[in-house]
Amino acid sequence: MNNFLTIIGAGLAGSEAAWQAAERGVQVVLYEMRPVVRNPVHKTGNCAELVCSNSLGNNQPHSAPFILKEELRSFNSIIIASGDKNSVPAGSALAVDRDLFSQEITEKLSNHPNITFKREEVVEIPQEGPVIIATGPLTSPQLSEQISKLIGQEYLYFYDALSPIVNADSIDYDKAFFASRYDKGDADYLNCPMNAEQYYNFVRELKAGEKVEFASFEKPVYFEGCMPIEVLADRGERTLAFGPLKPVGLPDPKTGKIAHAVVQLRRENRDSSAYNLVGFQTKLTYPEQKRIFSMIPGLENAEFFRLGAIHRNTFINSPSLLSNELELKDRPGKYFAGQITGVEGYVESSAMGLLASLSAVAKITGQPYTPPPADTALGALINYLTTSRSKGFQPMNINFGLFWVQEMKIRDKKLRNEKIAINAIEKIKQWKEGLKGPIPAHS
Ligand SMILES: Cc1cc2nc3c(=O)[nH]c(=O)nc-3n(C[C@H](O)[C@H](O)[C@H](O)COP(=O)(O)OP(=O)(O)OC[C@H]3O[C@@H](n4cnc5c(N)ncnc54)[C@H](O)[C@@H]3O)c2cc1C
Repeated sequence: MNNFLTIIGAGLAGSEAAWQAAERGVQVVLYEMRPVVRNPVHKTGNCAELVCSNSLGNNQPHSAPFILKEELRSFNSIIIASGDKNSVPAGSALAVDRDLFSQEITEKLSNHPNITFKREEVVEIPQEGPVIIATGPLTSPQLSEQISKLIGQEYLYFYDALSPIVNADSIDYDKAFFASRYDKGDADYLNCPMNAEQYYNFVRELKAGEKVEFASFEKPVYFEGCMPIEVLADRGERTLAFGPLKPVGLPDPKTGKIAHAVVQLRRENRDSSAYNLVGFQTKLTYPEQKRIFSMIPGLENAEFFRLGAIHRNTFINSPSLLSNELELKDRPGKYFAGQITGVEGYVESSAMGLLASLSAVAKITGQPYTPPPADTALGALINYLTTSRSKGFQPMNINFGLFWVQEMKIRDKKLRNEKIAINAIEKIKQWKEGLKGPIPAHS
């Protein structure tokens, strides 16, 4: 066993893992293949680049994603700290300026005295442990083969899609208006109202528009929260008006009336020079996206900085493979973290980076380690990954359904969530105190 930690991949999970280990005085060798080797989704060489939405999810007190963030905050998470520092207004969500966010993380990791940063593609998994594999949903093909050999299984897969980003200067503000739903918080969203005729025409074109074809052997399997907009449109004419285009709580200030449907746009960056179309993940071809999305009132002349896309996403069958320390049951010293474990989302992936790192650090330093309790968000995710049925295992976001708590029986939802949150945050503090690591060599 080495006395240093190897981490493969400096995405959300790998960055968090490297930071946590280095801050505990452990020497880390961190590999990242970008920008030397590129993939179809990441655009920069930065660590923790956000590939699609710039939102780190709900930050409203006592929601399940908020609890997870609070637990990460209590561990001085590099991902959440950088998110808080580089946030952009987005109502109850924690959205960030993606460039400032990932630049800051890159600088902190590159300058950390306990981290040796290697910009190269790993094609063989190091024999000597401990190693954390955090190469994400787009693990390079050669390493994917090695992982399959290591775990003795093929990966599972589903499809993820990117939503488009438009230039703020190209939006028609006579038609679009700023508001947050039910006037909650600041008017952070830009809203494009549609009347019934515009809405049904739009749905018809979404359904008819040309899509990117799948290879004949591939069957699309979508994660429900990242469903392409045209797939939702196919489910029924009014599905979108009750889903991502729901108009409730968003009266048009010009008429005072609620439109038939509303397309919401969220700020991409601090200077508000770009907006993304919320819920508009798509597999329409690029020319069709330009044509159909320009039917949205206010976006007739939109300039698209980025168009939507679709990508295969891969993950391992964690319930059959991983212990609750995120270590391969059959290969001690080999840990997995991030999306590849079967969690879904930026913050969930970072959380698995934290836990794999704490577990590996304990092994290196000879300290005891027990996984976080089941009534915390971190514990709830670990339980999901390691105790679910392996047959039909699917990626999961944090949600209250995963918490193992008595409070779930409380009828009043607000009270229930508050109690779960207070308990979880307290339990995480106690758990943290129980993990006796070495004094941080660097802070
Ligand atoms: C198309 C798409 C859209 C998505 N949209 C969203 C979204 O809107 N919101 C959300 O919360 N989540 C989204 N996700 C999920 C998102 O990928 C994860 O939430 C998060 O990025 C996963 O973090 P990670 O650290 O596991 O992987 P990543 O952040 O992808 O990091 C993995 C890193 O490993 C590197 N790497 C890969 N192979 C090698 C190798 N052989 N050697 C060295 N380095 C390597 C990669 O370059 C990358 O930097 C999306 C995923 C995809 C694929």
